[in-house]
Amino acid sequence: MTQRRMGDFRVGTGYDIHRLEKGLPLRLCGVTVESDFGAVGHSDADAALHALCDAILGALSLGDIGTLFPDDDPQYKDMDSRQLLEEVVRRMEEAGFLVENADVTIVLEQPKLRQYVEAMRTEVAKILQVDEESVGVKAKTKEGLGPEGRGEAVSCQAVVLLRNRGYMQSWGSLGGLRDMFY
Ligand code: MG
Repeated sequence: MTQRRMGDFRVGTGYDIHRLEKGLPLRLCGVTVESDFGAVGHSDADAALHALCDAILGALSLGDIGTLFPDDDPQYKDMDSRQLLEEVVRRMEEAGFLVENADVTIVLEQPKLRQYVEAMRTEVAKILQVDEESVGVKAKTKEGLGPEGRGEAVSCQAVVLLRNRGYMQSWGSLGGLRDMFY
């Protein structure tokens, strides 16, 4: 595959929102959260992993999760979103990139997610193939405002920084010299 010249670093953002309904499972960052309300969706409705997928795809200008995994395609029904993110990571590697770090914000009124955050970081780090130190997960409420605040929805934002596999940090100070190598 011919690699497009995309520079050493690429940044991408992702956003997702899912409706909440009583009696459904709630999955966030690949972790099941104990809650009376769960997210409505075609897959397992993990808004955090969906936002991460879009952040990586966006960083590489590879489209979005809806194009890659259409929500009217029966093969993605109730699918574990970790598998979707794994496929996105595979495409990122194919493009010659790896994750430098990722940062996720989850907006959910309740329950409090503090006790789940470490498990979420572990899960995301495993899929992105980075150390846990390279994954940030923050949880916020909306102080009762808007759909999340009323408990009608969970939304997530994600930012990723990707690094070209050919980039070596020590070459940074050598200026244009590194461009001779790739
Ligand atoms: Mg989604």
